[in-house]
Amino acid sequence: MEKPEKLLIDGKRLDGRAPDELRPLKIKAGVLERADGSAYVELGNNKVFAAVYGPREMHPRHDQQPDSAVLRCRYSMAPFSVEDRKRPGPDRRSMEISKVTREALEPVLFLELYPRSVIDVFIEVLQADAGTRTAGINAAAVALADAGVPMRDLVSSVAVGKIDGTIILDLMKEEDQFGTTDMPVAIIPRKKVVTLLQMDGHFTKEEFKQALDLAFKGCEKIYEVQRQALKEKYAIKEGE
Ligand code: UDP
Repeated sequence: MEKPEKLLIDGKRLDGRAPDELRPLKIKAGVLERADGSAYVELGNNKVFAAVYGPREMHPRHDQQPDSAVLRCRYSMAPFSVEDRKRPGPDRRSMEISKVTREALEPVLFLELYPRSVIDVFIEVLQADAGTRTAGINAAAVALADAGVPMRDLVSSVAVGKIDGTIILDLMKEEDQFGTTDMPVAIIPRKKVVTLLQMDGHFTKEEFKQALDLAFKGCEKIYEVQRQALKEKYAIKEGE
């Protein structure tokens, strides 16, 4: 990808968005028949599936916890999901994303209800355009709810960053690659608790505050779409 001369022209981003605007977001719950719960998320050009299995007995058994379930997350990118073919299989990046995804989701689950069990979350990225970890977390939260796993709340996630000195919401590929800062955030919306915060680049203290505030606002919108997806699946239709 060639570096564009500017990422912000007359206050608009390369795809025409305002700095505080999300990419188009679509979420559908219950899309995979074999999984206990599932969701599909399109965030701009990202296309991501999440599948949840369990709670079920943990195998291998030596990984069982006597007093709680284990949340196991696997983030994986399809070889055809990116511009240069991605070598299939786990790598350092996908292991890191799997770990932070687990940590972002764990606080909303009542794992103590299911001793010796495992809840598996598989996140499969079919098309990537920056922000796949946030799209994956949004999909996984809906898939967990779709599986009927008891939850305190959903988890909503979005990245914020800085391009040409301006704080922006929901970075796309060019902004991720050529911008100054990328800060993915995940939030438990009702409690306003942050469960993921990573940063690539730098912010001043003031910029950080402004960016975090923008992330909260973005997550509120995402939360609404997540809840709508669940309502659509579980609404009792007239005549049923
Ligand atoms: N990417 C890529 N090849 C890779 C890994 C990432 O082309 O092997 C791209 C992909 O579009 C991804 C983006 O780089 O969405 C940003 O990756 P990052 O590690 O920041 O994670 P993300 O923003 O997807 O959570």
